[in-house]
Amino acid sequence: MKTPPLPPETLDRLPGLADLGRTATRLHPRPGEVGVRDSHVGGPLRWPADEPWPTCADPYQVHEEVPLPAELVERMRAAEARRTVSHQLADGEREVHDEIADLVGAGFTGWGSRDGGPTVGHRYVSRPHPTPHPMLPVAQLRAGDIPDLPRPGGADLLQVLWCPYEHQQESLWGPTVRLHWRRESELTGILADPPTGEIGNEVYRPRPCRLHPEQVVEYPFPQELPDDLRERVEASGVNYVSTFMAPGWKVGGYANWSLTDLGTTLCPNCAGPTTLALVIDSKEYDGGTRDRWRPVEEQHLEWADPRRFDSQEPTGIQVGRWGALRIFVCPRCPDTPYLLDLQ
Ligand SMILES: [Zn+2]
Ligand SMILES: [Zn+2]
Repeated sequence: MKTPPLPPETLDRLPGLADLGRTATRLHPRPGEVGVRDSHVGGPLRWPADEPWPTCADPYQVHEEVPLPAELVERMRAAEARRTVSHQLADGEREVHDEIADLVGAGFTGWGSRDGGPTVGHRYVSRPHPTPHPMLPVAQLRAGDIPDLPRPGGADLLQVLWCPYEHQQESLWGPTVRLHWRRESELTGILADPPTGEIGNEVYRPRPCRLHPEQVVEYPFPQELPDDLRERVEASGVNYVSTFMAPGWKVGGYANWSLTDLGTTLCPNCAGPTTLALVIDSKEYDGGTRDRWRPVEEQHLEWADPRRFDSQEPTGIQVGRWGALRIFVCPRCPDTPYLLDLQ
């Protein structure tokens, strides 16, 4: 697939920026037939028959609803009704809220009623998987198909798996992720029937997608630019991030930090810089990035055309609040340490 070209005058307006370009490979996943030997999202992995299938032993988070006594709900409603300004708590309201939080217990996230149903408290509770949970294949990426794929230790195949439940992790709330780097030439017997497990959250089940990789050039997030260039960007009125940073699934290039400001991505082992190995994005483009990044093959799709969803949300994966999960790796350190960031 092909991204519309960047009009050359756009770069000319920001002298110095061209030198900071870095390649990224847009994966362009689209629903289709996938096989064990190809690069894909949501398909079978070329997994050695003699290697145990990875499992998750981390506790996961379960949403629970806790019934609330009618008397308590009544007192809360009465307190709410005493508000004089809609978003300012009335006298006594905080105390009743705390009472509800105590009753619901650890992991309390709030309370309410849905569709006129009973008013309940909500909480997340940490539960161990009953048995180590088989990880679910998310992507298989071949360096032969994806020029920007890191190749730690000469690896030419990356397999990404996750545990499709919510987990409270240091860096994020979501699936636990596992990366396996391999050399295709060393793969012989392939595991025919890998174990499968339940899916805790359907948005973590990828639709099988073929990849249509395309190498593009990206530019750094504004906070990573030299000061003088950043000032020129700010003065230019250019919608910089939407113009110079590719949305969607990609390998390599630069990370977009629009949600949190620039985060640290130094290797946890050697403290050196890491490489953006993979972005798992909830959507390939949105209203703000559509004109610049929607592939030319799909430019004709009307916004109301149902086929747009295969183009815009091809994998069915949704991470964070329609966000992107970014995986940074250190290709220099043994065992290729990695960092996750969700935004
Ligand atoms: Zn798990
Ligand atoms: Zn390192």
